[in-house]
Amino acid sequence: MADKRDYYEILGVGKDASTEDIKKSYRKLARQYHPDVNKAADAEAKFKEVKEAYDVLSDDGKRSTYDRFGHVDPNQGMGGGGADFGGGFGDIFDMFFGGGGGRRDPNAPQRGNDLQYTMTVEFKEAVFGKETDITIPRTETCDTCHGNGAKPGTKPDTCSVCKGSGQQEVVQNTPFGRMVNRRACTNCSGTGRIIKDKCGNCHGAGKVKRQRKIKVRIPAGVDDGAQIRMSGEGEGGLRGGPAGDLYIVIRVKAHEFFEREGDDIYCEVPLTFVQAALGDEIEIPTLTEKIKLKVPAGTQTGTYFRLKGKGVPRLRGYGQGDQHVKVTIVTPTSLTDDQKELLRQFGGLSGDGSDGQEHHESIFERMKKAFRGD
Ligand SMILES: [Zn+2]
Ligand SMILES: [Zn+2]
Repeated sequence: MADKRDYYEILGVGKDASTEDIKKSYRKLARQYHPDVNKAADAEAKFKEVKEAYDVLSDDGKRSTYDRFGHVDPNQGMGGGGADFGGGFGDIFDMFFGGGGGRRDPNAPQRGNDLQYTMTVEFKEAVFGKETDITIPRTETCDTCHGNGAKPGTKPDTCSVCKGSGQQEVVQNTPFGRMVNRRACTNCSGTGRIIKDKCGNCHGAGKVKRQRKIKVRIPAGVDDGAQIRMSGEGEGGLRGGPAGDLYIVIRVKAHEFFEREGDDIYCEVPLTFVQAALGDEIEIPTLTEKIKLKVPAGTQTGTYFRLKGKGVPRLRGYGQGDQHVKVTIVTPTSLTDDQKELLRQFGGLSGDGSDGQEHHESIFERMKKAFRGD
């Protein structure tokens, strides 16, 4: 996640760029950096960056999410994150250059697979962010042979049968004429190379399985289903290809008191009938502290109070959401005889119903107006 460039900046367009402008700029840059055309060492990384920026900005949904959250994808691309990008790379290749070309070269560098890791965090960890270590099993490029599979000091030889292409042509004479079939070279199993002295560490595979500890920074304000992309933390590439990416999918545990909707949080507090009728000052837990809330006399059950800025920090930009407090008036269930008598007196006092009735009538009035379309 660290130091990712802004997608608009990558494509060299303004935040208000039209879809057409984005497409134009993307085509230009993709041609410029395509690894087949541009042999600079960082061309492939630049190409990937451009492609990723385009993938997001060309999709209205993803673009608005990006505008809101930045480099975190709250879409739940379960299981799809990796395949998505890998596939995209191939697609664009085909789109611009009419088919695989060099891709089928068994000696060509190959990008490592993307990985996905699901991380469950506490409600407040998602709100305030967290730094943590995770351990993931992954395949990495072998350090001893740097991925070529040969013992240090030696090199893999080009297969003499297929001359390094990894493919063999099998010619058959049939009644319809000569048929030429291609199949993977049996001498080198389609790799195009023969390793005489295998690397002792990876036994010639060029890669090793490893448990790797990775530091993950979860940004404050992240929501359930968000994906954090850690560039280059996926599986190692082969033959000098870049590593894949690691996608961390965030799952946020429910909280027993707070509920969250976007950057706002909701909670429900009980109020006694007396508090609601006479008004009171009550203590409300927020995410960080306890604060006092004045409930005015005559508060109805279901009323919401808004505590401005007591919600979740916004992922992108400044400020915080709000906390919404719903008050629910709790009817007493166990009353003493004295209390019952007092309530009877109270009921008698307002027995003509003026108070309550007025209120009900006003609700009815309002509803009638609504029906009339006022
Ligand atoms: Zn061969
Ligand atoms: Zn090795």
